[in-house]
Amino acid sequence: MDVSVIIPVYNEEESLGPLVEWIEAELDDKSISYELVFIDDGSTDSSWQVLKKLSEENDIEIKATKFRRNYGKSAALSEGFKLAQGNVIITMDADLQDSPEEILPLYKMIKDEGYDLVSGWKKKRHDPISKTLPSKLFNAVARYVSKIPLHDFNCGLKAYKKEVVKDINVYGDMHRWMPVLAKWQGYSKIGEKVVTHQARKYGVSKFGARRLISGFLDLLSIFFVGKFNKRPMHFFGTLGIISISIGLFILVYLTIMKLVYNVSGIQDRPLFFFGILIFIIGTQLFLTGFLSELIIASRSKSYTYNILDRIE
Ligand code: UDP
Ligand code: MG
Repeated sequence: MDVSVIIPVYNEEESLGPLVEWIEAELDDKSISYELVFIDDGSTDSSWQVLKKLSEENDIEIKATKFRRNYGKSAALSEGFKLAQGNVIITMDADLQDSPEEILPLYKMIKDEGYDLVSGWKKKRHDPISKTLPSKLFNAVARYVSKIPLHDFNCGLKAYKKEVVKDINVYGDMHRWMPVLAKWQGYSKIGEKVVTHQARKYGVSKFGARRLISGFLDLLSIFFVGKFNKRPMHFFGTLGIISISIGLFILVYLTIMKLVYNVSGIQDRPLFFFGILIFIIGTQLFLTGFLSELIIASRSKSYTYNILDRIE
């Protein structure tokens, strides 16, 4: 099997039929073998019935899974990754915004040019400005933090080498950060392809403005986990020691003032409170680092490393 196309579906009943037709038209006369892997993410419309019908009526290989409830796009993709058999995995949205015409070029980039991951870039985007503008900002931050030069991290249309998706653990809302997750696993050949994008024809967008905040928080956690995963004490401990030192310095200074120079009214000075506050914060940071180290120590045996090759 050359390609698995993974398609998360959440209430997309009208789009599914045209989508399958379109993919078939694009791929059937070409020389690659492919399967479609639909994950119905707990749709409440007739998406599942449509999928059933499509798989019965079509000759092409269609796999479909239905979640009992809505778990989110990351969960749907993660399940799709487990089921996919192709050597190249392509993810695309079900809403007809991503074009199946891109499947073949993406496949070739992975297969012939040796990319680990190729992300689509909706250069000309057909979405309302309330979506495109924040997205620009968002991508700029992501580029800066992750050092991956992509313009459109959140593009639903992406292609992966099989190993990449089998090695990545997508949870929460982390589907937005697949390139970052891949990079942390050591897959550094990450490419980009400009893809065509359509306005949504049927149904409504499933993501609102809330995604901005949660997406940003996710980026922070990825960044943090990636950087300090194995040595949290280096982060918390450093901050803790700095805070404790400043606090200690202030308190010692005030004590000397009082005891040696007999200055009165120390307890009314803002510095006094600041000293106490920062000292306490420092000990808390330090303890947080210590606890994190304990957690890591206890699971360090089960930590798995991503192995490229071995000679035995
Ligand atoms: N989706 C999903 N589960 C969800 C939300 C969305 O499987 O909880 C799917 C949805 O059906 C679509 C894709 O994820 O195929 C992208 O969603 P949408 O088009 O609403 O996002 P947008 O294009 O607005 O960013
Ligand atoms: Mg969409």
